Amino acid sequence: MNDNHTHSPATRLVIFGRQGAGKGTQCNRIVEHYGVVHLSTGDMFRAARDAETELGRQVAPIMASGGLVSDELTIAIVRERLAEPDVRERGFVLDGFPRTPAQAAALLEMLGDDRLHAVLNLDVPLEEVTARMKARGREDDTDDGIAKRLALYDMQTVPTIEWFRERDLLVNIDGLGTEDEVTVRIFDAIDSVLAATP
Ligand code: ADP
Repeated sequence: MNDNHTHSPATRLVIFGRQGAGKGTQCNRIVEHYGVVHLSTGDMFRAARDAETELGRQVAPIMASGGLVSDELTIAIVRERLAEPDVRERGFVLDGFPRTPAQAAALLEMLGDDRLHAVLNLDVPLEEVTARMKARGREDDTDDGIAKRLALYDMQTVPTIEWFRERDLLVNIDGLGTEDEVTVRIFDAIDSVLAATP
């Protein structure tokens, strides 16, 4: 599948999507198809918390309360990871970062001349993700919990999406339809940006 990354430059992507938008599935497919590294700050923080590292001890109470880890800590952990050779060679799809406009500005600053190819917004209406989350019935998917997490996303993440939109970096992807239909839309969007990249 992934036979093109030896002669094409590393692909650098960001993906946004509400809980229940299907971001996990689409990230896996992007990783398989483009050979990029999946970078999830949520996964990084959970790993640190579970390993009880110094960072983990700092972030555990913040995560438990549903708050955001400070920009300073979050930017530092991403900066370190982006400098590692696998990410530099293979590129990345960032998931869960940036989550604030300050993180977005820091990301562009750390990339320097390495441009972001696409910032994908996997767009699924609020009513639809609410219905999907209720249907999957996970333990933390109570009506109240669902509403709270979705409201938090609108409050915290939507301004960051707008930050990219204002800079003409945002590609909106219709997230309605089958998983395969959505994947085709995402690959088409990425491919057209890559084709236009010198
Ligand atoms: P969610 O469960 O909200 O989808 P994630 O799995 O992306 O979240 O992240 C889990 C937790 O890690 C968040 O609730 C937050 O405390 C922290 N976190 C992850 N990414 C960031 C970020 N970019 N900035 C601040 N905190 C973050």
